[in-house]
Amino acid sequence: MVRIRLTNTRTRRKEEMTPIDASNVRLYLCGPTVYDRAHLGNARPVLVFDVLVRLLRHVYGADAVTYVRNFTDVDDKINAEAQRRKAAGSPLSLEQLIAERTEETVGWYHDDMDAIGAGRPDHEPRATAYVGQMIEMISDLIAKGHAYAAEGHVLFDVRSFPDYGKLSGRSVDDMIAGARVEVAPFKRDPMDFVLWKPSTDDLPGWDSPWGRGRPGWHIECSAMSAALLGPSFDIHGGGIDLQFPHHENEIAQSCCAHPQASFANIWLHNEMLQVEGKKMSKSLGNFFTVRDLLDKGVPGEVIRFVMLSTHYRKPMDWTEAKAREADATLRRWRGLVAGIEPATSPAPAVLEALADDLNTAGAIAALHDLAGQGDAPALLASARMLGLLLPEMGAWTEAGDDAAALIDSLLTARAEARKSRDFARADAIRDGFAAVGVEVKDTPQGPEWSLSTGFDADALAKLAADLGA
Ligand code: AMP
Ligand code: ZN
Repeated sequence: MVRIRLTNTRTRRKEEMTPIDASNVRLYLCGPTVYDRAHLGNARPVLVFDVLVRLLRHVYGADAVTYVRNFTDVDDKINAEAQRRKAAGSPLSLEQLIAERTEETVGWYHDDMDAIGAGRPDHEPRATAYVGQMIEMISDLIAKGHAYAAEGHVLFDVRSFPDYGKLSGRSVDDMIAGARVEVAPFKRDPMDFVLWKPSTDDLPGWDSPWGRGRPGWHIECSAMSAALLGPSFDIHGGGIDLQFPHHENEIAQSCCAHPQASFANIWLHNEMLQVEGKKMSKSLGNFFTVRDLLDKGVPGEVIRFVMLSTHYRKPMDWTEAKAREADATLRRWRGLVAGIEPATSPAPAVLEALADDLNTAGAIAALHDLAGQGDAPALLASARMLGLLLPEMGAWTEAGDDAAALIDSLLTARAEARKSRDFARADAIRDGFAAVGVEVKDTPQGPEWSLSTGFDADALAKLAADLGA
C-alpha cells in the first residue's frame, strides 16, 4: 500500500497519515463565504484537496473517503447585498433576498469549480442548516465551563483551554500584545472570541437561550464537521490565512466540547496565491475571479495545471507566461494520448511524488518524463491522478481545431485582399486577429500564428463570419 506523508501544521512535521478508519477516511475543508464569485486564490485549497481526495480514493478505495466542504451563508456581506436589493425596490423579503444571493453564488461556485475539474465533495453543508447543532454545542461549552453569556453574546473563554495558541505557535499573552483585538466591556479576556452574537430585527436571526441572534463564524465549522464526520477525523484544511484565528478557535471549541476526541489529526494549510509577484488585491488592480479567467479564454484545465505546478506549501505566483506554457504542454500531451487507452495504473514516480506531501510539482515533472519517453498510456493514466487529461476537460483543444481552420481561411482571405490591393480589407483582418487574441507573424516562409492568453474562440468565429472568410 502507498504510504502517504503530509506536513501537519499542528506538529510542524511531515507525518505518515494513518487513517482512523481505513474504510472511511474523513476530510474537512473550510469552504467559501458565498457573497460573491470565487477569486483565483480561493481555487487553490479546492484544487489541493481535489488532488488529495483523488490520491486517497486511489489508495483506500473509491468509496472509502468522505469529503466535506461547507458553505458559509451567514455573513454581513450577504446581508448587505440583500439590503441593497431591498433598497433598490425588490418586492422580496430580506430572507428571500438573502436566499436568492446565496443560491446564485453557490451556483456560480459550482460552475467555476467544475470548470477547473474539481470534483464535488460528498457533503456541502450550509451553515444556516446547522444552527440547531451550533446552539447545542455552545450550550455544552457553557455547561463545561469553557464559555459564558454576556449581554446577548456568548464568548469562548480562551484561558479555560491551556492548548489555545498551539496550532499557530503563539501564547495568549503574545497574541494580546500583537493583535488588534476588539476589546468589549463584556469580555473577560481580550482574546475571548464570539460563539453567538445578537441580531438586529432587520437581519436574519435565530431564537436561542441567549436571545435572538446568530452564530459566530468559527463555531460553524466545529458544528458541521462534528455532525458529518464525527468528533475525530483525519484531515482538516484551508489556506494558511485561516490558521489563526479561525482554525485555532475551531480547535478550542471542538476539543473542549469533545475532550475524549482528537478533532482533526492532520492540519493541512496551503500557502497564498499571488499574481505576477504581487499580492492579489483590488487596490492593485490585479484581482480577478476564476470566471474572469475563463471568460478571457483561459481553459479550466490550464488554470488547474498552473495551480498544481507549485507545491501547496509554497507561495504560488500566477503569471500569463505560465498559463501560455501550460496551454502548449496540455495541447501537446492531448495530441500524444489521442485515441490511446490509459495504462491500468499510474506510473510509480507520479504516485510517489503525490504520496510525498502532495508534491504536485514533482508529479508534473514525472509526467514530462513520460511524455518525453513517448509512453502515452502511462502519461494518460498518471495525468488523470492529478485530474488532468480527463475526457470531459478536453473540449478546449478540440475547439482549437475549428479555430485553426478559421484562422487559415482568414489568412487566405488576407492574402487575396493584399493581392487585389484591397488594403482596407487586409487591415480589417489584421486588426480583427489582434482583437480576438490571435498573434500573426509574417515570415519569409509565410504567416505564422499563435493564440494569446486572451484568445476568444467565439469572437474569432464571428470575425470570420463578418468578413465572409
Ligand atoms: P474565504 O471565502 O475568504 O474564507 O476563503 C475561502 C478559502 O480560500 C480559504 O481556505 C482561504 O484560506 C482560501 N484563500 C483565500 N485567499 C487565498 C489566496 N490568495 N491564496 C490561496 N488561498 C486563499
Ligand atoms: Zn472553517
